[in-house]
Amino acid sequence: MATAQLDGIKVLGGGPFGGRDLELMITRDAIQDRVREMAAEISGRYAARGPIIIGILNGSFIFMADLVRALQIPFEVDFIKLSSYGSETSSSGTVRLLKDISADITGRDVIVVEDIIDTGLTINFLRRRLEEAGPTSVSFVTLLLKDDVAKLDFTIDHVGFKIPNRYVVGYGLDIDQQMRGLDAIYALKEQE
Ligand code: 5GP
Repeated sequence: MATAQLDGIKVLGGGPFGGRDLELMITRDAIQDRVREMAAEISGRYAARGPIIIGILNGSFIFMADLVRALQIPFEVDFIKLSSYGSETSSSGTVRLLKDISADITGRDVIVVEDIIDTGLTINFLRRRLEEAGPTSVSFVTLLLKDDVAKLDFTIDHVGFKIPNRYVVGYGLDIDQQMRGLDAIYALKEQE
């Protein structure tokens, strides 16, 4: 597992990114290498178990697409939409269920795919909710973990990168629904 560094800073201003300055945190190549490693770990662990992989919308859709295409095992996918953030860059403190899964997960192996764990509120809520349905197992995969901030009473099975407590965008992650299409992870430059 790599810890992201804020060196090699690149600043983008203006243009399609609304004039916000961004600092490159994790390069496209580093993401792609790590996603392939995570897929290999998951494939080894779930060989012949046919898991249901549940992506948390919206932020995980790009990570999820890359991750499942690198898996070497049979699997199904489903999605759930939760919201703990409004349009601000800090958690609202409550989780709302905006779209539930369609699959019956009773007696199934479930893998939850999250883009980023910040306070841990979303993933704690989801874990409790999924376990009520009686799955055989539930494991958690996140691309990013703010491990100085996250308060979790369980272990995240697969973590792509531990990152500092900065608001990040790109590779599916947004600010006010923008910037999801960037192919690397950037931190919003702090306002002076
Ligand atoms: P938590 O419930 O762990 O505090 O936050 C989880 C959710 O908040 C993530 O799924 C994501 O939607 C959003 N979030 C948390 N930190 C960030 C961040 O740095 N950037 C973006 N774009 N979203 C974040």
